[in-house]
Amino acid sequence: MLTVPGLCWLCKMPLALSALGICSVCTRSLQWRIGTCPQCGLPATNPSLPCGRCLKKSPPWQALVAVDDYIPPLSGLVHALKFSGQSALAQPLARLLLLAILQARRHRALAKVDMVVNVPLYRRRHWRRGYNQSDLICRPLARWLGCRYEAGALTRVHATAIQHQLSARQRKRNLKNAFRLELPVDGLHIAIVDDVVTTGSTVAELSRLLLRSGAASVQVWCLCRTL
Ligand SMILES: [Zn+2]
Ligand SMILES: [Zn+2]
Repeated sequence: MLTVPGLCWLCKMPLALSALGICSVCTRSLQWRIGTCPQCGLPATNPSLPCGRCLKKSPPWQALVAVDDYIPPLSGLVHALKFSGQSALAQPLARLLLLAILQARRHRALAKVDMVVNVPLYRRRHWRRGYNQSDLICRPLARWLGCRYEAGALTRVHATAIQHQLSARQRKRNLKNAFRLELPVDGLHIAIVDDVVTTGSTVAELSRLLLRSGAASVQVWCLCRTL
């Protein structure tokens, strides 16, 4: 993927503002997540109410915001951030997430949060990659939204097996007691930031931990929401 500064990451046209990373035409061409359940973020018939799945078995978090499904062109950018060392993509992707959050605040009265936290990587995986992609998205996002960001709020206690290779049942067992909360969250409204949410088992485990520890509410903010 081309990394010439000043060109749009998607269409390679010159940018009016190089810091944006993705031009306004490409930004508009993303599908955005209209017509999805406000709680689980999956396609739903009435986007102003929790879907049937959520009514039957509610996820532990209160709201989910995503930019798009895990589909091109967004999936290519997220993959490049995670696996090709393209950390310069973090800010343009954080900006897309900011737009999705602002849209959700306008259209479905998404509540403001006090603090954002990132999904922790196990130390060895972090070291191999050199950065934690969710941390790089949190930094500008918290700055733009004027809320607190605590990079070390959640830590991974032990290495968990790679989630997508496991069944749903194995995922849950794999995550049990995998995380630790490092600071008080009493009465705080918190957003967990992740790049891609699929089954949601990791963010569910983190939400439960935060709520058990006294958080007032938990939102999940992600670039892609898919099944
Ligand atoms: Zn473009
Ligand atoms: Zn739902």
